[in-house]
Amino acid sequence: MTGADTINTLAEALRRDLPIVDAELGGRKLIFLDNASTTPKPRSVIDAVTRYYTECSANVHRGVHAMGIEASRRYDDARLEIAALVNARPDELVMVRGTTEAINLVAHGLRLAEDDEVIFPASEHHANWIPWRVHSKPVPMAIDDDGVPRWETLESLFTPKTRLVAVGHVSNVTGAIAPIEEVVRAAHSRGVPVLLDAAQSLSHLPIDVKRLGVDFMAASSHKAFGPSGVGFLYGTRERLGTLALYQVGGGMVSLNEDIGKGDFIPRDAPFRFEAGTPAIEGTIGFGAAIRFMRHHGMHAIREHDLALSRYLIDGLTDIPGVRVLAKDLPSERRIALATFLVDAPAMTQENVARALSDIYGVCVSGGYHCTHVLHARAHLKGTVRASPHAYNTTAEIDRLLEGVREIAT
Ligand code: PLP
Repeated sequence: MTGADTINTLAEALRRDLPIVDAELGGRKLIFLDNASTTPKPRSVIDAVTRYYTECSANVHRGVHAMGIEASRRYDDARLEIAALVNARPDELVMVRGTTEAINLVAHGLRLAEDDEVIFPASEHHANWIPWRVHSKPVPMAIDDDGVPRWETLESLFTPKTRLVAVGHVSNVTGAIAPIEEVVRAAHSRGVPVLLDAAQSLSHLPIDVKRLGVDFMAASSHKAFGPSGVGFLYGTRERLGTLALYQVGGGMVSLNEDIGKGDFIPRDAPFRFEAGTPAIEGTIGFGAAIRFMRHHGMHAIREHDLALSRYLIDGLTDIPGVRVLAKDLPSERRIALATFLVDAPAMTQENVARALSDIYGVCVSGGYHCTHVLHARAHLKGTVRASPHAYNTTAEIDRLLEGVREIAT
């Protein structure tokens, strides 16, 4: 099979399940290449959410009635599905609103002092930057002029004050895959835990948390074909057991005695971190999204990704006046995501992204992609990001390339 065949065969199979690829907005079809922001939802996800509303719209883990039991079953099944995808146990997954909340839960839960140090690449998304700024002494690792972390500097950053290494699995700007096993080895040899931000990797790479050896992992459903407003924090039982309570209220209590008579006793993890009614329909939809990905196969998705990465990066670098960040990273060390600059007189990179949408019907992201420090250190005033996924075809990438070529000339 040629690279184009690998791309288009899987893409066509996925497209049959994604109603939005046939939809029109304002009378025209759009090409969606902004999957790093959020992905479209398969019919099976939409149906799972709708069926919850139409068949068993009750609260979970509360009702003893038939509807509550059925809602709880669907909700619990989703947690099993998510756990199986990453080779975790269901009681190692705390359901939260998304990657941002999962990282904040750890930042809060570690009870960090002002001078406790957290190491992370300076290129990280704000979700994995600001919590360390607020809760600890941030130690941002150097990056090169394209925003790729200089991993060789990691060892020199550890001090007796280092409490955590927090790393994005895949950069939302360069698409670079971090060398997680090496990071874990360096951190664990000093007794320091590792948090993995899997926001960009969950739907692109096969992930096995045990093989990677990370202590925590954060991810969002909406970047993995599921609904927004739900995600998870993975933590080993040992690590979850050490985190301070994040939010308190109903559902996380095993006993609450009256004032003066006793204390309150929280439930075990993961429930101790899940106060209040959860995103029930979102979680059920997340489970369906994972069934969708596993049905097509994470390895097949990665094969598509490798071929698409070459197609996209080669196509963009061939255009005069276009600079692609980290263009020399081999496809084995990146996902199919390209952030680039177009040399077009009198146009900002946001203007370029807007023109691609308005003139060519291609939706890409333009701006800073929640990575101000990366852009500042790389002296960039905004960039354009194209982030296709497993359902995108070579014809769609060709349309992007045609638009960029015309804008650049
Ligand atoms: N981390 C990375 C690498 C991301 O790309 C994003 C979102 O773009 C996040 C964290 C935050 O994810 P969420 O907004 O779903 O919490």
